[in-house]
Amino acid sequence: MPLTAAPNRYHAELAWLGGPVPVADVMIEVVDGRITTVRPGWAPGPAERGSIRLAGLTLPGLANAHSHAFHRALRGRTHGSRGTFWTWRDGMYALAQRLDPDSYHRLARAVYAEMALAGITAVGEFHYLHHAPGGSRYADPNAMGHALLAAASEAGIRLTLLDTVYLTSTVDGEPLRGPQLRFGDGDLDGWADRAQALKTGPGARRGAAIHSVRALPGELIGAFVPLAEGMPLHVHLSEQRAENEACQARYGCSPTELLHTYGALGPDSTAVHATHLSDVDRSLLGDTETAVCVCPTTERDLADGIGPARALADAGSPLCLGSDSHAVVDLFEEARAVELDERLHTERRGHFGADELLMAATVCGHRAIGWPDAGRIAPGHRADLVTVDLSSVRTAGAEPLAAAVFAAGSADVTHVLVDGRPVVRDGRHATLDVARELSEAIGAVWP
Ligand SMILES: [Zn+2]
Repeated sequence: MPLTAAPNRYHAELAWLGGPVPVADVMIEVVDGRITTVRPGWAPGPAERGSIRLAGLTLPGLANAHSHAFHRALRGRTHGSRGTFWTWRDGMYALAQRLDPDSYHRLARAVYAEMALAGITAVGEFHYLHHAPGGSRYADPNAMGHALLAAASEAGIRLTLLDTVYLTSTVDGEPLRGPQLRFGDGDLDGWADRAQALKTGPGARRGAAIHSVRALPGELIGAFVPLAEGMPLHVHLSEQRAENEACQARYGCSPTELLHTYGALGPDSTAVHATHLSDVDRSLLGDTETAVCVCPTTERDLADGIGPARALADAGSPLCLGSDSHAVVDLFEEARAVELDERLHTERRGHFGADELLMAATVCGHRAIGWPDAGRIAPGHRADLVTVDLSSVRTAGAEPLAAAVFAAGSADVTHVLVDGRPVVRDGRHATLDVARELSEAIGAVWP
């Protein structure tokens, strides 16, 4: 799908340009993958019939700021005997043992294509499945990372490879064992040597990640932060109370305080989950403008709890969204869950407006994974457009912006443009039979 040199004109019946209500009849002109003109109230004249009409509501591309692509193969497979956290984690480790660069490439391509169908135009892949079983190196030590980069390119979406350091298995510094041996680079030099050799092409960039305070001792967090200079830095934070308790026992502080002590918080950093926080933790995250990526459908699947999303946003942390374990790939569902979970928790409605939730799904998510020129329908921005059907059985009759956030599902996405290239048309992926690819790729890892 080469970029087109001639201007492409789109006529959005309704487009969300960032305000509280969408705008009617918006002409969006695209040149070489960038938006060059946005003109509301546009009616194509007889000589301008060449424009492509987008019926429904057109949004900027959605950013999935937290993904572990391989977890998609666990969907619907961890609920036997009702399921516990451990049935999920045992399944995840068993799955991690089965993948090689070829099978991971096929699986990830299908997963990223599923994301494209859901309107996701860029993904932050929190990647720690680096090495062969037992921890031995592939001939290309980045074979798994390169498989993910190829998968995203073939699926038509951008990818930030959040290359994850994972050196220990507990807060007390126990060594990696069994399936975890695939995750480890031995030491920080091992991580840096491998990570710096990663080759990214167009539509991809590098980021860094600390798996969690379980996986990197405090003093090494301080040594790792300079290695991540100039890149997005992500970290799983206080997803479960047990992590907080172990951190208090070892360091006498919370995981957030530990990260702050070693300089890992800041506007280029994103804390993933941030579920179980103290008032001090929330202030540290907000004061440092650390973004927080909430992953409500995974957090409910794993019984993690409900994080303080409103309080974090009020403290100064930009919120973004991730589908994480891919129990569900639907950022509309993630967005509305941020509000609906607060309602359940507080027994009160009205914490987030639909436009705030869309900001989390678009501009804040893109910024968190290193694409600050994406996530808005505005001149100069990347031409990522996502059109939502407002006449489906789910969305018919709803107010347009509320339809997208509180009623739509990923199946309501009809058209997706990524960097000016049409990736989804009429609800179908331009090049891949996504359901068949998912079925075959997952069938291959669970024969
Ligand atoms: Zn995660």
